[in-house]
Amino acid sequence: MDPKGWCEKLNDGHEIPVLGFGTHAPEEVPKSRTVEVTKLAIDAGFRHIDSAYSYNNEKEVGQAIRSKIEDGTVKREDIFYTSKLWLTFLRPELVRPALEKSLTNLQLDYVDLYIIHFPIALKPGEELFPEDEHGKLIFDTVDLCATWEAMEKCKDAGLAKSIGVSNFNRRQLEMILNKPGLKYKPVCNQVECHPYLNQSKLLDFCKSKDIVLVAYGALGTQRLKRWLAPNSPVLLEDPVLCAKAKKYKRTPALIALRYLLQRGVVVLAKSYNEKRIKENMQVFEFQLTSEDMKDLDGLNRNHRFLPLQIAVDHPEYPFADEY
Ligand code: NAP
Repeated sequence: MDPKGWCEKLNDGHEIPVLGFGTHAPEEVPKSRTVEVTKLAIDAGFRHIDSAYSYNNEKEVGQAIRSKIEDGTVKREDIFYTSKLWLTFLRPELVRPALEKSLTNLQLDYVDLYIIHFPIALKPGEELFPEDEHGKLIFDTVDLCATWEAMEKCKDAGLAKSIGVSNFNRRQLEMILNKPGLKYKPVCNQVECHPYLNQSKLLDFCKSKDIVLVAYGALGTQRLKRWLAPNSPVLLEDPVLCAKAKKYKRTPALIALRYLLQRGVVVLAKSYNEKRIKENMQVFEFQLTSEDMKDLDGLNRNHRFLPLQIAVDHPEYPFADEY
């Protein structure tokens, strides 16, 4: 890790800032808020910004980034921007047009990282979640290795500096890694990761292949009804996290973020609140002892807040395997 830039080297030579700003917000949040908070995040020091085609906010995130470039706060090369290939675009011929759509929305020439959002192909078309007359998702059958080859072409074309995946399990990562004629390895696997699902096995596997694990839901997710697993505990109310927060005179959120950073995980933190956006930057100001890290390891209970239950019948549903 580079202590000056708080960056980690990716396997293709590029660098990723270890703390990223999550931009996803529920539909009812006005889009103008996304512009405001993304600008606040850049002002607070965030240089890594995570969004996706499916968040329906790339216009606003792009606007915020461009305005912070225009006012001289940052240069384009200071920002690490991640977008994601949505599931209705996994057919190889749809990959580049999907990225180009994101770039048009963003009004940027390239993204720093483009990742396959889930290994689950859905029927191509305008709908993000195509459904049949019974309200069931309509799946598609796509060879993920062919999708990956199309991702490689996006990197060669300069539209994405780095390419990676999200929500892939070990088998699916190996499928890409073992693909005959592989040109580029995925640089990252972005997955749900926090003290209740610490992903120790997947993390070890990723490290062994020089793939960075990027954590989402690090603060226990936004607990949106549509996606939250039933009977999900509230992570930031955990007694051990709260006790460590007291000990370090920080907040449970900061302890949760710091725990991941010290395990070599790149961590995303979403906040649409100015005070909490600034607070999350304090993750670089303290260090947990190895004893406290062990205590936090002990919180793991393999609890997935976002199991994507609606896709459980898809042949590539990633969360049925142990990891
Ligand atoms: P998260 O980072 O786990 O945050 C959850 C909640 O914590 C936020 O709603 C936020 O509320 C609150 N929070 C933030 N800072 C806090 C602090 N210092 N103290 C107390 N509460 C705090 O949320 P997430 O959106 O699930 O995940 C983060 C990002 O990961 C997303 O925005 C998205 O970019 C990405 N993501 C990717 C995937 C994928 O499939 N690849 C899936 C989910 C998410 P306030 O806004 O009110 O502060």
